[in-house]
Amino acid sequence: MPEQKPIYEKSLVWFRRDLRDYDHAALYHALKSSKTVYCVFVFDTAILNQLNDKADRRVEFIWESVRELKTSLQKHGSDLIVLHGNASDEIPKLANSLLLSAVFANHDYEPSAIARDVHVAEQLNILNISFHHYKDHVIFEKDEVLNLTGKPYGVFTPYKNMWLKTMNDFFLKAYPVDAYLNHLAKLKVSPLISLEDMGFKRTNLSAMHLPTGMQGGLTLFNDFKERMSRYKDARDFPAIKGVSYLSVHLRFGTISIRHLAREALHESNAGAQTWLNELIWRDFYVQILHHNPNVAAGKAYKAEFEALKFPEDPKLFQAWCDGKTGYPLVDAAMRQLNTTGFMHNRLRMVAASFLVKDLLIDWRWGERYFAEKLIDFDLSANNGGWQWAASTGCDAQPWFRIFNPITQSERFDAQGKFIRKYMPELAKCNDKEIHAPWLIPPLHLQELNLVIGQDYPAPIVDHTTQRLQALALYKNI
Ligand code: FAD
Repeated sequence: MPEQKPIYEKSLVWFRRDLRDYDHAALYHALKSSKTVYCVFVFDTAILNQLNDKADRRVEFIWESVRELKTSLQKHGSDLIVLHGNASDEIPKLANSLLLSAVFANHDYEPSAIARDVHVAEQLNILNISFHHYKDHVIFEKDEVLNLTGKPYGVFTPYKNMWLKTMNDFFLKAYPVDAYLNHLAKLKVSPLISLEDMGFKRTNLSAMHLPTGMQGGLTLFNDFKERMSRYKDARDFPAIKGVSYLSVHLRFGTISIRHLAREALHESNAGAQTWLNELIWRDFYVQILHHNPNVAAGKAYKAEFEALKFPEDPKLFQAWCDGKTGYPLVDAAMRQLNTTGFMHNRLRMVAASFLVKDLLIDWRWGERYFAEKLIDFDLSANNGGWQWAASTGCDAQPWFRIFNPITQSERFDAQGKFIRKYMPELAKCNDKEIHAPWLIPPLHLQELNLVIGQDYPAPIVDHTTQRLQALALYKNI
């Protein structure tokens, strides 16, 4: 087939949460339809200025991934232009100075990103520069999976069934970027702004064995591929390497969702099917956000739960944040979050349930804390997870189901391996007593040289009492 004639002289690909140069929708369309393609990433001060902690693992992860993307484009005689400023202004300014015909980007579904893109589109329109955007981040977006009456789904299983019915090779096909890389603008290499020059600091990211960038994403996936068949059985146990740890790569697009979905579908075992289910949950929550943007403004998905009034004790909240509730699994989970930026999914459910239904604190407080700390923070998944735990969400945990933090611990960390990793003060407790150390007889506590209330907190609330209070609170709705 003869190659389609480029319709644009010069265009620009604006990278955002899609930091890779393979199987990339916007890059493919730009390269295919333009003679010369520039690439840009903006460290957006509209986002960065809101981060109070200047040692932010996400910023470092992005910086490392941008560095890799820059090197990769340089291998093709081009470069990644990296700017530091307000993206809403920087993109139209750059487009104007390069005398571009078009700007290409991939969809971002968060309300603030949509508002930014509308502003950029307006500015580009004034300059007579077209703005093209594409689906890249998910397999299905917006109205692509609807029920038989044309309405969006609010329950996962029927959504998943329709997702699977709709899905075919077309939706999973990789964008063949390589064939058109000769259209990249030939550029002299420019230096990359440092983290410090943007007012940020290095974190413990490099010590965390979390490889960054496209190479990092593929390394993690290849490691997980060997374990995918065991995912169904292993995924709930935080002390086991049972999950993929790919969420941060999916968040920043350093791996392609189409590649992952293809691989999961290719394997026919129960582990792969369960893992594919999780990738579908991700699509599910993105479409929930699209159809219910008010959840991003703190609204409960199920409006009746807006009436929930939590007692909200800031001291209890602080103890939860610090991993000092006296419930070892919850505390280990929070310490994992605080020291690594990651928390295992089972623990996210336990810690979230504990905050809302044991400490009786509004789920929005927890959602905000996770948003600050999670390296893989994603508005749609985080909001979906919190509203699931608080029973206010679509397809949520029923309000009367309340996790018992002790039995969760006995079941999912039976030997206390995970707890010991994050809480050396409990290391000497045996496998049985580590889940509720305040129940250890005083004499044995002495042998362990452990003083409850001093070396490790006494429980800040009593689960049985709080459970009844939570039930009473929800019952009123
Ligand atoms: P795997 O188990 O290997 O799953 C593969 C991928 O599927 C994940 O990387 C993720 O992209 C997706 N996925 C898995 N579970 C879910 C889910 N329940 N909802 C949506 N997508 C899912 N995930 C985020 O990516 N960002 C968040 O901010 C986030 N906040 C959460 C908050 C709460 C309260 C809860 C209960 C869950 C949250 N999750 C979030 C979902 C889930 O905990 C993480 O995606 C998962 O732990 C990441 O680890 P992994 O990559 O090893 O996942």
